[in-house]
Amino acid sequence: MLFKGNKIVVNMFGSNLHINSVTKILFILFLAIFLLPLNSQSQTKEVVALKGDGIYRLLTRYGLSSVEYMDDFIALNKSNLGQNNTLFAGVKYKLPDTAKLPATPAASTTPSKGTGKMVHYDIFGSKYADVEILSNDLKGAVYYLVGGHGGPDPGAVGKYNGYHVYEDEYAYDVTLRLARKLIENGATVYMITRDKNDGIRDEYSLKADKDEVCYPNLKIPLNQTKRLRQRTDAVNQLYKKHKGSFQRMIAVHVDSRSRSENIDIFFYHDKRSETGEKACKILRDTIEKKYHEHQPNRGYTGTVSNRNLYVVRSTWPTAIFIELGNMNHQRDVKRLVIPDNRQAVANWLTLGLITDYKTNK
Ligand SMILES: [Zn+2]
Repeated sequence: MLFKGNKIVVNMFGSNLHINSVTKILFILFLAIFLLPLNSQSQTKEVVALKGDGIYRLLTRYGLSSVEYMDDFIALNKSNLGQNNTLFAGVKYKLPDTAKLPATPAASTTPSKGTGKMVHYDIFGSKYADVEILSNDLKGAVYYLVGGHGGPDPGAVGKYNGYHVYEDEYAYDVTLRLARKLIENGATVYMITRDKNDGIRDEYSLKADKDEVCYPNLKIPLNQTKRLRQRTDAVNQLYKKHKGSFQRMIAVHVDSRSRSENIDIFFYHDKRSETGEKACKILRDTIEKKYHEHQPNRGYTGTVSNRNLYVVRSTWPTAIFIELGNMNHQRDVKRLVIPDNRQAVANWLTLGLITDYKTNK
């Protein structure tokens, strides 16, 4: 268009000056169209790891979010990583190509609503990896989401229609869905328990595996004390980085009490934390309101109480511990196995967390 427009200018006035400027523009266009893309495609930046560097620290130094680029970095540098993906000082590592992550949607393929900004997170799985930022309601809020158990520990095991239901897989799926909703609303989210190949799964029966890792990519130990300390440390390291921001640690579990009573979704907070109690009450009230809207005769018995739990006591951000139901009660398990129900729980928790942010920030 620009080119055509200038040509018209030339024809109309016919002066040398204009022909010169058209030639210049053509030359610049030529450069822009033919040379620049070739350049940026062939650019893989290599950097040298310093003593004490981990992937997280290295990525951060070069301005890359470890949430977005951790998996790419590992894939690119696999042959140069040590056990548990440690780095070797003095070795060159390739940085992921940042052009791969679209900052804005391709206008022709993505209908634009909300703020229109698209982000891409492999951890949600291919179907859900592209996330559109729909609001800024949680802009400035930072969440650490800890799906309970994982790695060698499946947590509680229940049964539904003859198949086994493993706590860690269902808690993880709800946690992922919650993460995606929080991101849609502008939050910064860290998945502390992570599974590279289990994205959001729209299935009733979630296959159990043991390859979950702890942020950023640490093997989860079998020993419970070590396991809980590992995830607590991961949260607290990040907490320091985001000091001054509104921060929440959210642990998601499924209760395994042996009594076969329906216990609904309920919440624990640290006994010293007034903010934690307030946040839990807001979540509880939101779930109650939503159940009332969708199933008026159902009733809801979810509770808020304090409990002396390691991750709640030892993490520095305000802690919210969620039990999604009773693994030994069929109605509770049904809420877990139906993918739409898992999504509804994540949506409602997000609504509650938005209220929590607006009220308590
Ligand atoms: Zn649990």
